[in-house]
Amino acid sequence: MSLDFFPGLDDLQSAGAKQQQLHEQAAAVARRHFGRKVFVRAVIEISNFCRENCEYCGMRRDNRDLRRYRFKLDELADLIIHQRPSSITDINLQAGEDPIAVRDIAIPLIKIIREKTPLGVSVCLGTLNESLYAELQNAGASTYIIKFETGSPKLYARRQSPGTFEERVGHICHLQDKGWNVSSGFICGLPDETDADLLNNFTVASQLPLDGCSVSPYIAGEATPLAKNSNCSIDLALNCMASLRLMRPDWVIPAVSALNLAGGTCGYQRGLATGANLVTINMTPTNERGEYLLYKRNRFIMTEDRVLSAIEAEGLEPSTESLAEFYRNASVVNFK
Ligand code: SF4
Repeated sequence: MSLDFFPGLDDLQSAGAKQQQLHEQAAAVARRHFGRKVFVRAVIEISNFCRENCEYCGMRRDNRDLRRYRFKLDELADLIIHQRPSSITDINLQAGEDPIAVRDIAIPLIKIIREKTPLGVSVCLGTLNESLYAELQNAGASTYIIKFETGSPKLYARRQSPGTFEERVGHICHLQDKGWNVSSGFICGLPDETDADLLNNFTVASQLPLDGCSVSPYIAGEATPLAKNSNCSIDLALNCMASLRLMRPDWVIPAVSALNLAGGTCGYQRGLATGANLVTINMTPTNERGEYLLYKRNRFIMTEDRVLSAIEAEGLEPSTESLAEFYRNASVVNFK
C-alpha cells in the first residue's frame, strides 16, 4: 500500500511549534477516520511466567527473585462475567511466554468469555506453536498482539528478544495468514538504538500485514540488566505515535500505560491527543499486579476512572462497538 506520510528524523525529534503541528495533524487524522470514538478494552495478566529473556523486561527468565504466579481459571471467569467494568467491549489476555498458562487458563477462559459475554477477545501470549495459535483461535480469540520490538534485527538480537527478528516476523505473517487480526508494536528509545534503527521501526511496521500497532517508550525496568539506562523521553514517544497515525490513518493505535512512566500522569492523555484510539483498563486482580514486572513494582495502574477521565478530557467518547466487531466489519468492507 502506498503511504501518504513517512516520518523523517526531523518529525521524530521535533519540538515546539513543529511538534504541536505534528500532534494536531495526527489527532485530526484519527478523528477523520474514527470520529470521536475510542475503543475501551480491559487486560488481565494471567501469568507472569516467561521462558524468554528480553533484557528490557523484569519478567525475563533470569530474574530468579520474581515470585511467579498463574491465576486460577475460576477466579478469572468470575471476575470477567460478574465484575468487569461496564465500559469495556473487549478483553485482552496477556502473559509472559508461558504455554502452560495458554493451555490451562487462556484457552478454556476464552471459551467461557465467548459463551457468557459479548466481549471481543484479543491475546498477547508470545511466540507459540501453530497448534496453540489454532486452539486459541478456535476458542474464540480474534486479535493477536505480537510486537516486533525493534526494526533492527541486530538490536533485536542484542537485547535478547524472543527467537530471531526473522522468526518473529514469520509468526506475525503466519498469524495474519490464518485470519487473525494482528496488532504489533515497537519500543522506541531502546538502549543502543541509532537514528537509523528508530526510522527502521516505521519501515518494518509499514511492511507488515497489521491492523494496529503500538509505540512503547523504553522504560528502564528494575531487575533488568538495563536498569541503569535512561528512559525514552515522552516527546520522542509521542512524536513516534503521531507519525505512526499519519503513516497509517486506518490503524488501531493504543495509548500504552508506559506513557505515564515516561511523561508523568498526563502522558497517557497526551497519547490520546496524538491520535491514539484504544485505551486499556487493568483488570488483573490486585494481589498479583505488582508481580507483573514489566518495568517496576510500583505500577501506574489504569483504572476505569482514570481511563474514562482521560477520554473525556480530550473531548472523546468510549466506543460502544467492540474492537472485534470493528475489525469484522472492516474486513467485510475491504473483502480482506
Ligand atoms: S517482554 Fe515478554 S517475552 Fe520478553 S521477557 Fe518480558 S514477558 Fe517475556
